[in-house]
Amino acid sequence: MDRNRLHDMISVRQIMKSLRALTARDMPPQERLDKIVEQVAQRLNVDVCSCYISRPGGILELCATYGLDKKAVHETFLRIGEGLVGEIALQRKPLAVEDVWSHTSFVYKPETKEKQFKSLVGVPLIRANRILGVLAIQTRKIQTFSSEMIELLETIGMVLAEMLASQQFKKSDSDTLSVGGRQKIEGTGLIDGFAIGQALVHKRAEQVVQVLSGDAQKEIQKLMQALERVECEVNKILATSHMSGDQSAIFETYLMFIKDKGWIAKMIKAIETGLTADAAVQKVGDEITDRMELMTDPYIKERIHDFRDLVGRLRRHLGRAKSIQNRKIPRNTILIAKNLGPAELLDYDKSKIKGIVLEEGSQTMHMVIVARSLNIPLVCGIKNVAQIISNGDSVALDATAGNVYLNPSDETLDVLSERAQNQKKLRARYAQMKDLPATTRDGTTVSLNINAGLSNDLMVGDGVFFDGVGLYRTELPFMIAEELPDVKTQEDIYRRALMQAQNKPVVFRSLDIGSDKVLPYFQRHTEENPAMGWRSIRMTLDRRALLRSQLRAFIRAAAGLDLYVMFPMIASVREFIEARKTLMMEVEREKRRGGTLPRIIRVGTMIEVPSLIFQMEQLVREVDFISIGTNDLAQFLYACDRGNPMIWNRYDSLSPSLLKALKYICDICQQAHVPCSVCGEMASRSLEAVALVGLGFRSLSMTPSSLGPVKAAIRTMDQKHLSAYLEKQLEITSGSLREKLKMYARDHGILI
Ligand code: PEP
Ligand code: MG
Repeated sequence: MDRNRLHDMISVRQIMKSLRALTARDMPPQERLDKIVEQVAQRLNVDVCSCYISRPGGILELCATYGLDKKAVHETFLRIGEGLVGEIALQRKPLAVEDVWSHTSFVYKPETKEKQFKSLVGVPLIRANRILGVLAIQTRKIQTFSSEMIELLETIGMVLAEMLASQQFKKSDSDTLSVGGRQKIEGTGLIDGFAIGQALVHKRAEQVVQVLSGDAQKEIQKLMQALERVECEVNKILATSHMSGDQSAIFETYLMFIKDKGWIAKMIKAIETGLTADAAVQKVGDEITDRMELMTDPYIKERIHDFRDLVGRLRRHLGRAKSIQNRKIPRNTILIAKNLGPAELLDYDKSKIKGIVLEEGSQTMHMVIVARSLNIPLVCGIKNVAQIISNGDSVALDATAGNVYLNPSDETLDVLSERAQNQKKLRARYAQMKDLPATTRDGTTVSLNINAGLSNDLMVGDGVFFDGVGLYRTELPFMIAEELPDVKTQEDIYRRALMQAQNKPVVFRSLDIGSDKVLPYFQRHTEENPAMGWRSIRMTLDRRALLRSQLRAFIRAAAGLDLYVMFPMIASVREFIEARKTLMMEVEREKRRGGTLPRIIRVGTMIEVPSLIFQMEQLVREVDFISIGTNDLAQFLYACDRGNPMIWNRYDSLSPSLLKALKYICDICQQAHVPCSVCGEMASRSLEAVALVGLGFRSLSMTPSSLGPVKAAIRTMDQKHLSAYLEKQLEITSGSLREKLKMYARDHGILI
């Protein structure tokens, strides 16, 4: 037997012995994993040993390391297929690389401080055909790994996989990793920032106590009084809270709900069937929220929280639940809730709320808008959060990374304080740029616009300048109405939007409803594939009267002003021509009627259906402008349902296929001098926005809160340099460009 072989056999025995000893001892899982990687590195005489664990959504998390920077543990993530470690998980095979820096799949993670390491060998951790993670070793010197060494690592990997599969390192339902009594809980950061404080679990109204009543008149009277009181309460919030424009506009929407005749009529009807006012409010409220829940449109879904808040308020005035106002709360409160309405948030002493953690939530929720203007960091998407965290628990938030730390260690607190300082500096830089144009270092100016849905959205906080409304989603007033809003009602809504935009262009999108976005007064059709079904322009072309009434309202609202109209879900040039013809018929009608016409009319299309890309040459001859809806375009390009959490993470918007498609559209538009913008969520994220400018886009439309960060990113980039870089990378990169672009941004001082 040769010396190496003998040496390897001894190593196997020694390592297995120490692994067995470690499994036998009682210690917290994190400590055990730390010790394992340390033992493996020392016994194999290598500089680094790291363990990555699979997380839901195809993510690998660095969970322990010996040799890399310890601060990167639980902070470094790779997608399956990303980088060498991701490749090992994807291929489910060991991989040995002598010089990682010359390998095309290598992705550098600076936070790990792995710059000094050259060679790597990694093995997948597989059990019962499931990939549980990756074990990798690295060396400073370039090294050729023997097949025995790889086999040895595979053997260690098998033992480790067994341990991982046992309860020891399993994540709970709520995606938590328990570390010695402490927990790191991963969610989604919605409002950047850091906070440390004491948990306060928010409580909603209690169950209805008395369901039936024999005196309908008395109950109706109670209901009307409660509605009046809520109206007074909301008016009081409006008058005393010194709110910014967008905050107060939200409460004006509350007032609109309170006065909604359809809703009140339904509650009265429920009382007349024998229910108490309290039970009727709850029943009708549940019915409406259930209907709203069925809709996949995130914008509508987010209004559910406002509505629930209103129902809770009403029930409190019916005497069933205690007010949370004036309740004594700790000075550094971290509010924990399943969900929260904006008024509920304002019921608390705002100066004491340092952070918010929610089970539900998303960017465009009104409560999030309020919290954003109050600068309260917010993390959402944590299942059962109100059960995991209890009143009085010590909690730290890193909302920038989307992490919540329950009983944080001193080390965690130090890291968070350092990050908080860096973020403060970044915010100060955004503020300096508030009134400056979004011009790149080499002089390219990009038009920054906002996406809006209610006229409230037009009142952007922080006074950040924007050029116009690139996408006005018109569906909401249709969805909350009891019957089809008539032309006059619509006209008023659109005129208000134009007034609030103060002469800036507003691009009205025709109704994007149908399939799951049901209008209560429209017959519902069950479809197998609603996203690809009878929706949007397909429906409004079939129900032409609906489209015509909306177009008529646009024309009248913009009398004497500039009118921009665009059509969603257009799949062929012919469809666009048909829609435009309908608009022109309405213009002729208005002319005949003697009404004042808009000063100019510009008609455009969204590109959301890939088929339109292959008709670009004809399309640019027909349209005045184009706006790319990357949310839908990506879902159809990748055949990947945008609402399905199992796969939403699978295809990255910064992958060559989508970027090339976008560049192609942009190039053709430029040649034809047709303005082209991106209004999908992509444009709201700094890294993606920078890439879009690099591809050639000169106009972006985004969620209002992204204006500051996107502008800062654009002002610190060099358009020509990035453009040349992207062109090359699009040809040689097979996966996502995200990591490369992040590195590029870091190397070139782009503020991301
Ligand atoms: C899109 O699809 O990118 C888009 C902006 O439209 P919506 O998100 O309203 O479908
Ligand atoms: Mg869309």
